Amino acid sequence: MTTSSPDCLFCGIVAGDIPSTKVYEDEHAYAFADLNPQAPTHVLVVPRKHFSDVADLGRDPDAAAGLLAGIRGLVAQEGLEHFRTVLNTGAEVGQSVFHVHAHVLAGRPMGWPPG
Ligand code: AMP
Ligand code: ZN
Repeated sequence: MTTSSPDCLFCGIVAGDIPSTKVYEDEHAYAFADLNPQAPTHVLVVPRKHFSDVADLGRDPDAAAGLLAGIRGLVAQEGLEHFRTVLNTGAEVGQSVFHVHAHVLAGRPMGWPPG
């Protein structure tokens, strides 16, 4: 079974080939600091296995549950009770890396709707 995609930035980070600032990890998920933080806490949570976006991830319910469990593990570890979770899907709405990732943002007031 192929679990990583060649030339994928976040597969490289999960594998440890590309440096990152690890915040949390478990069996299914890896979480690291966003290079360009948009809030005092801005962490990306990714499944260890490659999926291009959240719709692709939904094809594998076990992996999808693993990503949610990873978010839960991260926020429990960091003591976050209030946070925003964003999964951009498609370049038009801001997805720039095509390995599904949940942005977890916290530490400042946030407006709605998002821009
Ligand atoms: P998106 O635009 O939703 O695809 O989110 C991609 C995010 O990845 C952006 O917030 C970038 O700042 C972040 N990013 C890109 N390269 C890296 C990297 N090498 N390490 C950490 N974050 C990164
Ligand atoms: Zn990948």
